[in-house]
This record gives sequence, structure tokens and C-alpha cells, in this order.
Amino acid sequence: MGGAASGPAVGGGGTSAAPPASMASGLGDAAAARARLVQRLREDGCRDERVLAAMGAVPRHLFVDPGLAPQAYEDTSLPIGLGQTISKPTVVARMIALMRERTGVGELQRVLEIGTGCGYQAAVLGLVARQVYSIERLRELYDRARENLAPQRADNLRLIYGDGRLGHGPNAPYDGIIAAAGGEAIPAAWLEQLAVGGRLVAPVHDVPSGRQILVAVDRRPDGSLVQSRHEFVRFVPLESGIFDGGVGRG
Ligand code: SAH
Repeated sequence: MGGAASGPAVGGGGTSAAPPASMASGLGDAAAARARLVQRLREDGCRDERVLAAMGAVPRHLFVDPGLAPQAYEDTSLPIGLGQTISKPTVVARMIALMRERTGVGELQRVLEIGTGCGYQAAVLGLVARQVYSIERLRELYDRARENLAPQRADNLRLIYGDGRLGHGPNAPYDGIIAAAGGEAIPAAWLEQLAVGGRLVAPVHDVPSGRQILVAVDRRPDGSLVQSRHEFVRFVPLESGIFDGGVGRG
């Protein structure tokens, strides 16, 4: 399979990742809806103020189909086309907070996201990490995420069209790796690309239950890997290879 194609940074030269001023969407006041969402995340147990601030800043309604915008600040997953979904806000916040509980200290430097989808989680990650790389295997979603993220002017996001099961070697190691799609096992490349003190968070198939479980893997200073298992989750499957639009496919 062809390698990953890495585009230029998403942002258009601005220095701020603040949401755009205009948010007309039939939602009423999107900022107020986000404030209610943040309250909901607190009630759900999120105590990470950095994550809460990021979730309160990213205009989720601009990442979904306009017809779904009125539901954008409810705690629900939403379809983003091609059979894929944007995760529930409580799940996005939980995964990012869990990743931030790594053993390494200080600001997250490099984060790799597998499964860009509509680009929403990448935008949130961009507010909690210095540099974010996000990989998507479906060309159409990769293109859409670029469009969705352009108004965010987030210079620290780099989108990659490729097979995320291979990670993204050129910018490794990462001190955070977060997967938005779940496979049978954690791909070896992700573990190889995890920095010392870094943490990987991913949904993985759990054989005994037949469900997906959220797994965190830490790389200790001696290089060893330590895995912890968390709650059951439901993510779309981690697929193989890239898909550019279906030429020649039925
Ligand atoms: N974080 C996304 C959620 C997208 S859903 C958001 O905020 O919208 C998960 C995404 O993972 C889908 O877009 C799917 O196409 C993608 N995906 C699945 N397997 C993949 C792989 N091997 N490499 C890259 N992306 C993959």
C-alpha cells in the first residue's frame, strides 16, 4: 500500500486556535450551548480543566452536517458520513483526559490521533498539545476535515491521509497517541512510536466480553510498556489500508 501523504499545516497563518466569531446555525447561542456541555462533562466526572476549556472552545456544530447542528452539544455520537461517527463529547473528553494522565510531565508535545473523521477531536487536541498529527484513511473525510479545520486557524494541526495502523513514523516518538477506531489488538507501530513517559489510549477488542474496552499503555523510563484497562466503549472498527473514493468498486 502507498505511504502516507502529509499535507501542510491546517491553519492559515494565524496564531490563535480560538473559534470564529460568527456561529449562525439555528442553534441560538452556540457559546451558551458549549457552556452547558462543559457543565455536563463536569457532572460526568471530568476534572481536567485544560480539557474542559478546550471542549468549551471548539465549535462542534461546525464539524457536523448543518442538519445535525442542533444536536451538536448534546452528549451523543453523530454520523459524519461514510458509515463513520463523531464520538460523544463525554468520550472525547474522557479519552483526552486519560491520555494527559501520562507519567511524563509538562505540556504534551507531540500527539498522534488515528482516525481524523470530521476533525473535531483533532481541534480539541490542538488546544491541549503543542503539535498534533492526525491520520485518516478515507480520502473524503480527510478532505472534509481539512475544510472543517481551516476556519480554526490551528497552525499546530497536521492532517495525514494514510493507514493509521502504521502510525506516522516521520514525526515519532509521540508522547500521546489516541485512537478513534478500535481493532483486535494494538498495532505494533503505535507502541514503537510511543515516547518514554508517553501514553497511548485506544479502544481494543476484549475477547472475554466480546466488547471493546478502553486501554491505556504507558512507556516507562526503562522502556517497558505497562497496560491498564478501563471502561467498555463503542467505536467504529480500525480498518486496513486507505480508500480514495471507490473507483472500480461496487
Ligand atoms: N476523531 C474523529 C472520530 C472519527 S470516527 C472525529 O472527531 O470526528 C473514526 C475514524 O477512524 C473514521 O473516520 C475512520 O475512517 C477512521 N479510521 C478507521 N481505521 C483507520 C485507519 N487504519 N487509519 C486511519 N483512520 C482510520
